[in-house]
Amino acid sequence: MYCTQCGVALDNPDRFCRQCGQRTGVDAPPRPVSHNLTRDMRNKKIAGVCAGFARYLEVDVVLVRVLWLAVALCTGVGFIAYLVAWIVMPKEWQPAAAAEYAAQHS
Ligand SMILES: [Zn+2]
Repeated sequence: MYCTQCGVALDNPDRFCRQCGQRTGVDAPPRPVSHNLTRDMRNKKIAGVCAGFARYLEVDVVLVRVLWLAVALCTGVGFIAYLVAWIVMPKEWQPAAAAEYAAQHS
């Protein structure tokens, strides 16, 4: 594709022209889900906190649960941290998860 203003050749993912800064009409690529620290409503056990962290850190959710539980049992901080995370982390409202939630609570 080419810039509509100066005619310079553009790479497809470019949102702005390198030459003159004109918008190219290419939308920003969607952010990968894993970059949002949200509670994972599809893979949750309690509130989706561990699943959300696992997805965010791109590690196995079982590993997160084991580590979190170990910290919780050893120090007690984990329980408070879980409650805090539960409160502050937004729910993930992807269409699939939302539909599933609606089906369970209708
Ligand atoms: Zn241009």
